[in-house]
Amino acid sequence: MDCLFCKIIDGEIPSTKVYEDEYVYAFKDIAPIAPMHILIIPKAHIASANDINAENSSLVAKVFEAAGKIAKEQGCESYRIINNCGDDAGQTVKHLHFHLLGGVKMGWGPESLGRTE
Ligand code: 5GP
Ligand code: ZN
Repeated sequence: MDCLFCKIIDGEIPSTKVYEDEYVYAFKDIAPIAPMHILIIPKAHIASANDINAENSSLVAKVFEAAGKIAKEQGCESYRIINNCGDDAGQTVKHLHFHLLGGVKMGWGPESLGRTE
């Protein structure tokens, strides 16, 4: 399958891995927007949050199980998890991924959306 993140999981494209188990792979974002910016992905190809269903939703739980462990390992007690679903939300890679962000004090409000209009 012609999917960037499937290729990263397979090692076909290099990445800086921070965590891996049977279900989940996590690696540093190539263009970090916070001191900790890690992408956590299910190993199975799921295109977006719209494709989560009764058969595969346990993989999302695995992502969140891993997230807390990874953040702690990275020295972040506080963190934010973001999923962009669809073009207007800024999803550029069509393999379900969760941004794990931390290491900085974050704001909360409309400006935190990074709105472009
Ligand atoms: P999205 O915009 O789809 O929510 O997030 C995609 C993320 O993947 C972006 O933050 C982008 O920097 C990251 N990314 C894109 N290509 C690569 C790559 O080849 N390697 C890594 N490590 N991150 C990538
Ligand atoms: Zn994929």
